[in-house]
Amino acid sequence: MQLLSVIVPCYNEEESVADFYDELMKNNEFFKERNLDVEILYIDDGSKDRTVEEVKKLHEKDERVRLISFSRNFGKEAGIYAGLQNSKGDYLVVMDVDLQDPPSLLPEMFSYMDQGYDSVATRRVTRKGEPVIRSFFARMFYKLMRKISSTEIVDGARDYRLMTRQVAEAILSMKEYNRFTKGIYGWVGFKTKWLEFENVERKKGETKWSFWKLLKYSLEGILAFSTVPATLASVIGILFCILAFLLVLVIIVRTALFGDPVAGWPSLVCIIAMVSGVQLFCLGMVGQYVAKTYLEVKNRPIYIVKEEI
Ligand code: UDP
Ligand code: MG
Repeated sequence: MQLLSVIVPCYNEEESVADFYDELMKNNEFFKERNLDVEILYIDDGSKDRTVEEVKKLHEKDERVRLISFSRNFGKEAGIYAGLQNSKGDYLVVMDVDLQDPPSLLPEMFSYMDQGYDSVATRRVTRKGEPVIRSFFARMFYKLMRKISSTEIVDGARDYRLMTRQVAEAILSMKEYNRFTKGIYGWVGFKTKWLEFENVERKKGETKWSFWKLLKYSLEGILAFSTVPATLASVIGILFCILAFLLVLVIIVRTALFGDPVAGWPSLVCIIAMVSGVQLFCLGMVGQYVAKTYLEVKNRPIYIVKEEI
């Protein structure tokens, strides 16, 4: 018998907890055939609703349901980390509780594992039901990421991924505080099979991601997996030096040819304003890296557990 650990991060998901369990258990036949024991590890990410009670109810019914409850909201990334760290499975799978990651894909995923893949990842090929600007910015983000990061970050990739113990251990060995899971998955490597599926809309409850939260998250991703912005300052600096040098030449030639009427303070003010703007922008960017480094150096725990079943 092998053990499959299903890791389910939940934040204010009282409506979805039981539905997810039912949907997952539709695979029961398959689990038996494949000789798989299953444990379901709900990670309650400091929910303010009845998520914890719902999980406890499930646990009464089924011993295989486990719960780890955080002392506050630490974010989905922390939930995934806690899940990987606290499960014992030979295989581990991370899934959203809102059924946007269809559990019905599991048999197919296992068929690839049996062919020798180390992990089976999923990506959605459509973004049906998503606001248009959100899709637009998401695409831009992935395009930019491909250019400025050496780590592979796949467009439309979900956190839904089946992996072996070995891959999970590799992910756990990355103990960084600023966790960008999509990048971490890519960074550890291993032989990965990509499954594609059509976007499934959330069954119940609401998305926890506002546009601004997503924007912040994408900036985190860039900071965590690329140092290009930090070097941008030098590039812009060099460009401005060249520009300044050319201007000096132009002014010398002009003065020699046409004399030197003292004029042009408006242009001077514009140049000063623009250059100081660029300087502050670059300083800010470098500051972001310093801030992230500061947080890493503090070495705070990634999550704090309040309760565990
Ligand atoms: N989630 C979490 N902590 C958070 C935000 C979200 O554990 O701070 C969980 C949430 O309960 C869900 C999954 O992460 O299971 C994905 O969240 P959501 O469906 O809101 O994101 P979307 O699918 O809209 O990108
Ligand atoms: Mg969702």
